[in-house]
Amino acid sequence: MPYRVKRGVVLVLSAPVDKLLGFLEDATARAGLPFFTVTSGVEGAHRENSLHYEARALDVRNKNWKPAQIQIAYARLAEIRDRDKQPLRFLPETDHLHIEWRG
Ligand SMILES: [Zn+2]
Repeated sequence: MPYRVKRGVVLVLSAPVDKLLGFLEDATARAGLPFFTVTSGVEGAHRENSLHYEARALDVRNKNWKPAQIQIAYARLAEIRDRDKQPLRFLPETDHLHIEWRG
């Protein structure tokens, strides 16, 4: 399995989450990462009206990624978003990458 799920995370496999997982698999594989870890799904404390609560956003651990891997992974996500015109938004936070589907 190319991704792991942190204990306690509630991962609802909605169509948007399935797409996000696919994009993350693509981006992390290109960066040479053997897997990635989902650290938040629909559970947890997020902003009011956060897309997390609609199963349209994920948080992924990035603190164990090397700078070069981050650069490759984020560049690939930007390429998917821009070239394929996907309603994708990703926000690097201090200890995780937030990614959401705005379609
Ligand atoms: Zn988030």
